[in-house]
Amino acid sequence: MGLTNQSTGRGAMENTLYIERALKDDKVIALAGNPNVGKSTVFNSLTGLKQHTGNWPGKTVTNAHGRYTHIDKGFIMVDLPGTYSLMANSAEEEVARDFICFGNPDATVVVADATCLERNLNLVLQTLEITGKVVVCVNLLDEAKRKKIRIDLKTLSEQLGVPVIGTSARSGKGLNELMDTVYAMSQSDDKAQPLKITYDEAIESAVSIIEPTLHALLRGQLNSRWVALKLLDADVALLDAIRKYVGFDLVDNETVTEKVAQARALLIERQTDSDALRDRIVSSIVRRAEAICANTVKFENLMYNQIDRRIDKVLTSKVFGLPIMLALLGVIFWLTITGANYPSALLADGLFWVEDQLTAFFSWLGAPAWVHGVLVLGIYRTLAWVVSVMLPPMTIFFPLFTLLEDLGYLPRVAFNLDKYFKRACACGKQALTMCMGFGCNAAGVVGCRIIESPRERLIATITNNFVPCNGRFPTLIAVITMFFAAVVAGPFQSVISAMVLVAVILFGIVMTLFISKLLSKTMLKGVPSSFTLELPPYRKPQIGRVIVRSIFDRTLFVLGRAVSVAAPAGLVIWGLANINVGGLSLLAHCAALLDPFARLIGLDGFILMAFILGFPANEIVVPIIIMSYMATGSMIELDSLDQLRQLLVSHGWTWLTAVCMMLFSLCHWPCGTTCWTIKKETQSWKWTAVSFLVPAVCGIVVCFVVANTVRLLGLT
Ligand code: GDP
Repeated sequence: MGLTNQSTGRGAMENTLYIERALKDDKVIALAGNPNVGKSTVFNSLTGLKQHTGNWPGKTVTNAHGRYTHIDKGFIMVDLPGTYSLMANSAEEEVARDFICFGNPDATVVVADATCLERNLNLVLQTLEITGKVVVCVNLLDEAKRKKIRIDLKTLSEQLGVPVIGTSARSGKGLNELMDTVYAMSQSDDKAQPLKITYDEAIESAVSIIEPTLHALLRGQLNSRWVALKLLDADVALLDAIRKYVGFDLVDNETVTEKVAQARALLIERQTDSDALRDRIVSSIVRRAEAICANTVKFENLMYNQIDRRIDKVLTSKVFGLPIMLALLGVIFWLTITGANYPSALLADGLFWVEDQLTAFFSWLGAPAWVHGVLVLGIYRTLAWVVSVMLPPMTIFFPLFTLLEDLGYLPRVAFNLDKYFKRACACGKQALTMCMGFGCNAAGVVGCRIIESPRERLIATITNNFVPCNGRFPTLIAVITMFFAAVVAGPFQSVISAMVLVAVILFGIVMTLFISKLLSKTMLKGVPSSFTLELPPYRKPQIGRVIVRSIFDRTLFVLGRAVSVAAPAGLVIWGLANINVGGLSLLAHCAALLDPFARLIGLDGFILMAFILGFPANEIVVPIIIMSYMATGSMIELDSLDQLRQLLVSHGWTWLTAVCMMLFSLCHWPCGTTCWTIKKETQSWKWTAVSFLVPAVCGIVVCFVVANTVRLLGLT
């Protein structure tokens, strides 16, 4: 099946080892930590960059690096993927471990969550085995205080043998001290004396057989005790990385091989095979973390998790979990639709008023008709449509969705959907990648890296397009408002719209599950793997910041992308509509060519062509349809949804066209950016083609069945 590390994106993560220093004496700082401990928040605060933050484990799957200056030095901070351990059980763990080992960081900051320090200390202890140049950042101190958890940072630092700094990264507390400490550590050549974990007697004896030889060979390039453990563990990938780093193969050295054989024989004698060795190493680390926490952490309120558990009982219950999820989605859609109506109309009024002024200006200038056509009727009008249709719903939907994300609700969605994904032989984490797809399918595809199994990762990648991204939401909302909400009067219009939209999303989820199952039984056979899904504590979102961040980082970004694609598309459409061949415009020729097939699936030639021309970005499908109809029809002015509806109806649209248009919008090929991302992630043209064809074929089949069933039943 070609399921290799490379074909599933692991290759894409390995280019992070070598970080260029902006200036020669910049210091490189690695930032490690468990998922969801505020690592990106620390990173963003220090570097001023905008890594994605959100209350769920697994969203940071790529490495970012950014620069900051402190006192008189420049620092390159490398944000490593969030990992629970450095045992290289997954691609992320391998990347994080390799950077700490071989990326030559001048210091490594390990961010830990103060509310569950014991679990976080496992990563700290494993890092200390590799390097002593570690600063531990105990973050979320404000949360810990709220939950009445007290941490004795001074004793913790004494026990770990490295500096420990307490922070509340979200409010910036402690970050200055963190930077001071990192500064001091990166300047000094003192060898730190970090805590050394002692293993059971058999392992210690085995290590002591090998370590002296390694110590002499490695000459301080790597921690010889840690390398000895890895040699005993026979971690082939790591040994290969060590070979590249030190410039020779340890296993080629006769003394080393001899000592390793002796040590292994000793372990076997003491009933420690390689599985047992790993288990014992892990349990020693866990026990040590427990012991340290027993001395340093005090829970003054043992019921601190009680409220979260009570809320979870309802939100993830078998009976209420799914209905609550759908109701929440419905409320968000309702707010989006209701809220977007007025600003949309206002924007359209304003922008089309500007169009009139531009037209007047061009005629005052005496500009040729084609200049006015290209600039105003082609480019400007398409842009005006994109802005007025897309901007208001996005401005409302993104902040609401981000609030849910910050609150910690998304992992609960994954939990509720887990059993359905299991039944479809896929991974429950796919639900999280689906949620990311709501924002942008390309981001959803990158997010699939949180799924360890290459088979399940591919399934999630191929099916991600079944959730509508923000480029398709406005299309769905506009069609629903015109064709379904219009049948009822008054305040219920937006309720109906929201319910139809929920139904469309549900259909997308059903398609995701169905296709996942189909792929699992055919091209990507296999059984679902098990995984642990962490339900993070609910955290109070920072409402102001969420709004500002989602408007600037998401809404304006997406709009910018749409506008930059829509402008040239407007130009092309205008050109096609105005170049005549044989008495008909090129646009009409193309549409006529596509028309017979399009009619079979409930659309028409113009709609299908809009989907094809919308390949660069889904946002421009509706504007292209409007432009094409206007170029061939009689309406010149168009500044409200009602007039738009009339335009569509005059071109033969019925409720069936609207339904097929929505279904095709939900199930068709991914946009250009998503296809490019899939190619990058899978490193395979074959899987990119499959990801393109699967939703496209589904869309055609679904629309064909719906259109022809309705026609046969005589319902239109
Ligand atoms: P990462 O996965 O480790 O990169 O974590 P993020 O930086 O995305 O943070 C996870 C969640 O914790 C987000 O909702 C942050 O807003 C929140 N968060 C981060 N630091 C703090 C903090 O110091 N206090 C509180 N209360 N929340 C924080």
